[in-house]
Amino acid sequence: MGVSPQQHERESFRADLDGNVRAHALRCAPIAEALSGATRASRIYGIRRFFGYFREAAGAGWVLLGDAGHFKDPAGGRGIGDAFHQAERLADAVGDAIGSDVRLDHAVAEFGRWRYRTYAEYYGLAADLGVAGPIAGIVPRVVRGLHARGRIDGVLNLLSHRASVLDVLTPARVLGATGGHLLRAPGRRHATLGELGRLATTEIRRRNAMRKPVFQSGPAPRPVQQETPEPELSR
Ligand SMILES: Cc1cc2nc3c(=O)[nH]c(=O)nc-3n(C[C@H](O)[C@H](O)[C@H](O)COP(=O)(O)OP(=O)(O)OC[C@H]3O[C@@H](n4cnc5c(N)ncnc54)[C@H](O)[C@@H]3O)c2cc1C
Repeated sequence: MGVSPQQHERESFRADLDGNVRAHALRCAPIAEALSGATRASRIYGIRRFFGYFREAAGAGWVLLGDAGHFKDPAGGRGIGDAFHQAERLADAVGDAIGSDVRLDHAVAEFGRWRYRTYAEYYGLAADLGVAGPIAGIVPRVVRGLHARGRIDGVLNLLSHRASVLDVLTPARVLGATGGHLLRAPGRRHATLGELGRLATTEIRRRNAMRKPVFQSGPAPRPVQQETPEPELSR
């Protein structure tokens, strides 16, 4: 079980780690139900900071999968599935090439391009999901609209990496949700348009960066920094 307190809660959280982790988790009714009668079996680990990175995925005679190739914000809960996704793709790519160095290098290079194209976008999505504070209101509005039209599967497909960001958050849907909100809340015009501008700027910056990737070389700068406070063994 994991909880994500806000940064400003850090010190108060540490004052009663066990109680606060528990209270945070129990605020969500289905989790509270799942945890009813449960006892904590391990110590509590906290992560204060982590660094995302993208390494080149493949070269002559080598290939990197999973976290070895890239690490993104864990808020999307996708790292394990993505590592398997990449392993399956690699197995398909190299299956027929084994036995020929030339074909093998070609196959892993193609895998590397696929990994980059596919995961650069999901990397941005994970960063958006993990950003401190509330996510841009436009996104929940698009999601509510999809839900109302019985199309929530699009969002689930995005979260499970079966659809791309632009398949789901299409410009038409984003503009439609913005227009609807402007009509309903004309007083929020400035804030809503500002939000739309920030989303568009981030997306354009990311897409430009994707055209000329700069990969992390060598070891990642301490990818995950952990603190392992002593648990309060209250149970
Ligand atoms: C806080 C947090 C929450 C997360 N939540 C989720 C989640 O809810 N869902 C999800 O899908 N993902 C989540 N992730 C991400 C997920 O844990 C990783 O993306 C995933 O474990 C990557 O798998 P991997 O096999 O690539 O690497 P790892 O799981 O890191 O496996 C690599 C293994 O190689 C071993 N190793 C390293 N060097 C050597 C060596 N020289 N010789 C032998 N062995 C070696 C390591 O000890 C390790 O066991 C989370 C990550 C964090 C930090």
